[in-house]
Amino acid sequence: MITPDLLEFSGCSSREAIPVVDREPVDYWDVPATIQPNHFVHKSLSNWSFNIAIGCSHACRFCYVPSAATIKMGALLERHGIADPDAEWGEYVLLRRWDEKRFLASLRAAEQTPRSLLKPDGNRAIIYCSTTDPYQAIRHSDPARQRELAAAARHVVRRSLELIRDHSTLRVRILTRSPLARQDFDLFRSFGTRLLFGMSLPTLRNDLSKIYEPRAPAPSQRLATLQAASEAGLHIYAAIAPTYPECDAADFHATLSALRPLDPVTIFHEPINIRAENVQRISRHAARLGVPLRTDVFATRSAWQRYALISLRTMREIAQELGLLSRLHSWPDPALGSTATVQSQPNPRRYLEELHKNWSRISEWPENQRPAF
Ligand code: SF4
Repeated sequence: MITPDLLEFSGCSSREAIPVVDREPVDYWDVPATIQPNHFVHKSLSNWSFNIAIGCSHACRFCYVPSAATIKMGALLERHGIADPDAEWGEYVLLRRWDEKRFLASLRAAEQTPRSLLKPDGNRAIIYCSTTDPYQAIRHSDPARQRELAAAARHVVRRSLELIRDHSTLRVRILTRSPLARQDFDLFRSFGTRLLFGMSLPTLRNDLSKIYEPRAPAPSQRLATLQAASEAGLHIYAAIAPTYPECDAADFHATLSALRPLDPVTIFHEPINIRAENVQRISRHAARLGVPLRTDVFATRSAWQRYALISLRTMREIAQELGLLSRLHSWPDPALGSTATVQSQPNPRRYLEELHKNWSRISEWPENQRPAF
C-alpha cells in the first residue's frame, strides 16, 4: 500500500499499478553502502559510484543494469524471492544498510587515490547512483514498513553526502528521475561547485515515458524539478538518455528548448543501446500493454545502428540550431565503432574522428564551464 501524498509527490499516481506479490522483495540488503570505483566506458560521469540499493522501483524497460550487474547476484537475490532478476526488474528494491565506519573507510580510499591512477574524464566525482535511483519511491504493502525503509534510504543518502562534503575534496554528481530530490536541495547547495544536480529526461512526452519508464515520475515533474534546482542556485545538467525510437526531431527540439533557459552545464545524450535482455523486456511490455512500439529498430544490428546514428545526428543538428552544441555531450555506443560500421559511412575517417572526439570528451564542471551562450 502506498500513501497518497507520496504517490502524488513522486508522480506515480497515474502510472502503472503496483502488483501485490506474496513475498515483497522490498527489504534490506546485508552488504552496506560504500563508495566503489565504477566502470563507465566513454561516459565521463564519475570515477566512483555510490549505490543505495540493489534494484530500482522506476522499472525502466530499457534499463541496462540487470544485465550489467544485478544478474550476477542471482543466487543471493533468490533468497529474497527474486527468481529472474532481469524479467522482474522494477519489482525489487533491496536497500543497502548504513555502516558509517565502512562508508568512511571507502571515502578515505577514494580521497587518497592518486590522481595519476584516475581516469580524467571521471572528474574525481562520485555518482549517486549508477545502478539505481537515489530518490526513488519505496513501495511496500505495509505502510509502517514502507515508512521505515524510506527513512532508511533518506538517511543513507543524506548522511553519506554530509560526510563526503566534510571529510573529502571529492565532487558529487546526482542523477535521478525523481522530484523527491527537492528535499535535499539545501544540502546540495552547501557543496558549492563541488556538486552537479542532474535529471534523466529522455523526452517531455508523459505518454511515451509512461510506456518506457512505467513507474518513474512523469517528465513534466522532472523538468519542474530541474527548474526548481536552477532557481535554487544549483549547478544543473541533464541526461536526455536514452531517447526512444519514437522520439523524433520535434521531440528533441522540445526537450532542448525547455532545457536551454536553465543553462545546464552539460547535456548528455544517447539512444537506447542493446544490452542482454533489455529489448525483450521492451517488447514484452509493449505486447502486454497492446501498444505498438517501434521495436523493429532492434530487430537487427544494422537496424539498430541506423536508429542510433540518426538519433545522435538529429540531436546534434537541433543542438546546433539552438546554440547548444557546445553543451551537448553525445554518448555513441562503442559498437558504433566496429570496422563494418565505420567502413559503411560516406566519410569513414571523419566519422571515426567524431566518434573519438565524443569518447574522449571530459564533461564540464562549473569551475571550467564554457561561457554562457
Ligand atoms: S532509473 Fe536508472 S537504474 Fe532505475 S530502472 Fe531506470 S534506468 Fe534503471
